[in-house]
Amino acid sequence: MDIKKIDKFIFQIKGKNVDAIVFTDQETISNPDFREALQQIVNVTHMPGIVAAIAMPDIHWGYGFPIGGVGVFDAEKGVISPGGIGFDINCGVRLMKTNLTYEQVKPVLRKLLEEIFDSVPVGVGARGAVEIDKKTLKEICELGARWAVENGYGSKEDLQRIEDGGTVGPANPDDVSDKAYERGFDELSTLGAGNHFIEIQKVEEIYDENVAKEFGLFQNQVVFSVHCGSRGFGHQIATDYIQIMRDKLADHNKNLPDKQLINAPFNHPIGQKYFSAMNCAANYAFANRQMIGFMLTKAARKVFPKAEVTLLYDVAHNIAKLEVYNGRKLIIHRKGATRALGPGNPILNEVYRAIGQPVLIPGSMGSASYVLVGTKKAEQISYGSTAHGAGRVLGRRAALRSMSYKDVLQSLAEKGIEVVSKEKKTLVEEAPETYKDVDRVVEIVDSIGISKKVAKLVPLGVVKG
Ligand code: 5GP
Ligand code: MN
Ligand code: MN
Repeated sequence: MDIKKIDKFIFQIKGKNVDAIVFTDQETISNPDFREALQQIVNVTHMPGIVAAIAMPDIHWGYGFPIGGVGVFDAEKGVISPGGIGFDINCGVRLMKTNLTYEQVKPVLRKLLEEIFDSVPVGVGARGAVEIDKKTLKEICELGARWAVENGYGSKEDLQRIEDGGTVGPANPDDVSDKAYERGFDELSTLGAGNHFIEIQKVEEIYDENVAKEFGLFQNQVVFSVHCGSRGFGHQIATDYIQIMRDKLADHNKNLPDKQLINAPFNHPIGQKYFSAMNCAANYAFANRQMIGFMLTKAARKVFPKAEVTLLYDVAHNIAKLEVYNGRKLIIHRKGATRALGPGNPILNEVYRAIGQPVLIPGSMGSASYVLVGTKKAEQISYGSTAHGAGRVLGRRAALRSMSYKDVLQSLAEKGIEVVSKEKKTLVEEAPETYKDVDRVVEIVDSIGISKKVAKLVPLGVVKG
């Protein structure tokens, strides 16, 4: 690999149609554990119509494209690729603020955590709280979070606080297979398992008083984070279209350095259909997080009847979008990457247009998580993108080999963190040790300026699948 250091945290790796850009530190660039992931971002530079291939400091291996990656393609000459978005379409994070302080919550933390665990369907095979038919699911495909709000889950104000208002398009429900619908019925309003979580957190530190105030954050405030996506519905859509592309676009895909980079020209009918089906899954995920947010609010009110729970923001971190940069229409794949638009950007929700987009970067159940704000710099150097998490360092199997359930529980207990989980195994697979140092990831993106730190959150209680 031909790697050139451009700046303290910016590296350039020789690619084919363009060079890859990696935002990280020297340690990660030279760490053999990340070689494969770096090779993946280089592979992306071989794809047709590629404009930029960028990796974030939370980079790690993923299907075809690395997680923590941004693949930018020309909308006319470029492609759309399911591996550039991920199987969990519109996996994302929402942050809900409360008017409660740490002192108020501390004595009833366990109760609050269990109330949440009992209110939100969690874990593999959990069924959703609502019965829906195909007609309703098609409506959800088109309307996303708007469907949820129109059906009593939350308020209209919430939509101003969701990326793209919680509805993306074009989203034609006819582009979704029956098999995907079958999987979608039962899982709406469920959290899922593994890396997905609900966390009760405390605002530990404020870095930018001004922006924190605009976001409604204050020291010692209790907040909730929710991380989940489109469940089996999105997974099936990704699977379906990978198969369709294999069957129908074999010739177009024959020269790829990795067959997992399978794609369709964006302008080809298959590319357009995948984009539309992907948007259906993204809308399902927006509705899902909106419904979970509603259930979470109800759970909090059981313990604190007067609690005010309001949405700060809901971001997508596995999605592709059409965006215009310098007058050029681009299809931007963010896979394990967060949009980070700066102040004044006209696409931003009105409530945040002047200040910039809230960016949510979770760490792990045993470390901090961060709220940041998008920047003009991100628009200039990373197509309005930043990191999405700490990123994995240790695989699930390796985690199970090296730690026990007891070890994980004990080390969390030592930090005063309460946990409830459906499966013991999940807790080990998701132990804090399996993730990179989130403080470092955030320091890097903040230092480069592709998003700026606003507040640090620490976990009090965690719900896992
Ligand atoms: P992904 O979507 O790539 O699976 O996960 C996003 C990020 O969430 C991970 O990179 C990791 O840093 C973070 N994460 C995973 N589990 C937890 C958790 O239980 N709590 C918090 N705060 N973050 C987590
Ligand atoms: Mn996910
Ligand atoms: Mn995710």
